[in-house]
Amino acid sequence: MHEMSITMSMLDIIREHMERNGACRLRSVQIRVGELTAVEPESLRFCFEVCSQGTPLAGAALDIEEIPHTGKCRDCGSEFRIEGFVPHCPACGGSSADRVAGNELDIVSMEVD
Ligand SMILES: [Zn+2]
Repeated sequence: MHEMSITMSMLDIIREHMERNGACRLRSVQIRVGELTAVEPESLRFCFEVCSQGTPLAGAALDIEEIPHTGKCRDCGSEFRIEGFVPHCPACGGSSADRVAGNELDIVSMEVD
């Protein structure tokens, strides 16, 4: 379960941010998770709960935004969701595309007290 190590490094980032801002409690954190990271939002939620127990981060609301694997067609420029390994442009039928989204694993914002 690689969510656990991801969660640990996220908690580190959050803790650092809180220390820098003299915050004593985490209210909420917004996270963006791309489809290609293979991170299950539910596992992430669970790991967060487990790891934050007994810390100032406990009880924070976790807002997880899932980003679909998205490509931009090299032939016609339209953006579409890529399912499976071979992109298939629904507009022109092209099969070459540049990835534009799906690799995200970011903390977008957080609210602290
Ligand atoms: Zn196309």
